[in-house]
Amino acid sequence: HQGRGGEVMDYRADFPILSTMLGKRRLVYLDNAATTQKPTCVLEAGRLYYEQQNSNIHRGAHYLSRLATEEHEKARETVADFLHAASSREVIFTSGCTAGINLVAQTLALSGLIGAGDEIIVTTDAHHSNIVPWQMLCGRVGAKLLPVPLTPELTFDMEAYHRLLSSRTRLVAVPYISNALGAINPVQQIIADARRNNPATLVLVDGAQSTAHLPVNVQELGCDFYAFSGHKVYAPTGTGALWGREEVLEMLPPWLGGGEMISEVTFEKTSYNPLPFKYEAGTPNIGGNIVLAAALRYVQEIGLPKIDAHEMALPRRMYDGLQELGVNILGPRDSRGALISITVPGVHHYDLGTLLDQMAIAVRTGHHCCQPFMQSIGITGTTRYSFALYNTMDEVDSALSATARALDMLHDAGDEHVLPVRDDVHLQLRAHQVLIDQHGVFNALRENQLHIARQLRIVMRTRCAGGARCCRPRRGSGRCPRRRRQ
Ligand code: PMP
Repeated sequence: HQGRGGEVMDYRADFPILSTMLGKRRLVYLDNAATTQKPTCVLEAGRLYYEQQNSNIHRGAHYLSRLATEEHEKARETVADFLHAASSREVIFTSGCTAGINLVAQTLALSGLIGAGDEIIVTTDAHHSNIVPWQMLCGRVGAKLLPVPLTPELTFDMEAYHRLLSSRTRLVAVPYISNALGAINPVQQIIADARRNNPATLVLVDGAQSTAHLPVNVQELGCDFYAFSGHKVYAPTGTGALWGREEVLEMLPPWLGGGEMISEVTFEKTSYNPLPFKYEAGTPNIGGNIVLAAALRYVQEIGLPKIDAHEMALPRRMYDGLQELGVNILGPRDSRGALISITVPGVHHYDLGTLLDQMAIAVRTGHHCCQPFMQSIGITGTTRYSFALYNTMDEVDSALSATARALDMLHDAGDEHVLPVRDDVHLQLRAHQVLIDQHGVFNALRENQLHIARQLRIVMRTRCAGGARCCRPRRGSGRCPRRRRQ
């Protein structure tokens, strides 16, 4: 299959899980913004480490310890190279993006650099991981959290941002790509404007959604921190890194205390290890960090520009197809990452996600850990289709036709989410209207009336079995004709 620039992307065979069959259908995995699948080389790197290299690192006098130390520090070089960092001293291994952001927030709280009346600017489309740690920091030191609003087109509001920047701004934290909306934020300009306002303002870029999709050069971006999670870049969960500008990391105090991060300890005083170890207390995720590097090398070998070109073609086709279905697509068509979020009037996102799952399409529904963003546009959640290098145009088309079919079924079910089922079930559905409004039919039932949910699923499956025509219950009768025949 081909990307925008005609690049042939044929890496599906590298991902064993993609051949999963759900009944007669092959799984279409479009939940990559939540986590990506892992290629065989990554799985093998983990096996190789535990079979041939496993040992604790640093200070070891023996062969395996030297080998593991060497591999671990080579992995750090790989991360530095991937992010185009000036030095691997600037790479701190973490358990993921959340841990990286919390590390910065905690060291800043200890540093005394942010105090009462100071301001931290975040974005409305930020993930909770890029809001709550700053809120906690503000609560501790008496600083204020200021969200930049979105424009009516759901893009970053540069003018509002300029109005928020002030002599009190100490930190700006921004997602490169929003995980709920998909927008690529103009981070380079955001960073440059923060610096112009005050050169001492620190800027953190949340790279959770950008690292697997866009070539990132932290030196060109000009930020102070860049955090990402390994599991969104084809590596295992529990891995990731925080990049920090060397002079900033030198200036800040460590947060976690323990082994590895010290140079010398007495009961009176402790001196700290140089970078990056000052921020890595305790035994790190040695195997995980080595495997993270294997995943980054895999991405490097394919090439991010090629991946980006391929991935951009997928949401564009999805966007156009969804537009034909008449759903609300959040944000503009272009300048977006490899994901699309939609809402459909009268259809709960959980219901759409549940029906798509029955057609072997894996999407994510809900608030995507972006509740303030959802509140800002008056919704409770979206249905999100997100792509990775292994997704194909055929999968986009499958997702589109499955969405059309699911919406058909849900629209036929009526505005009140009353599905064509037995009268007693129908009555119970009505009794759960409030729950249904909040959680969708399937989830409300799953939580409260499992036996009905089971019946309902059987009904849906029976209705589906006869093809699209069969899925349309006769208007007024509220029953599927095929079911009646049985
Ligand atoms: N920021 C963004 C934009 C994200 O999409 C995510 C994960 N959904 C996170 C932060 C947090 O990542 P993790 O849970 O892997 O730490």
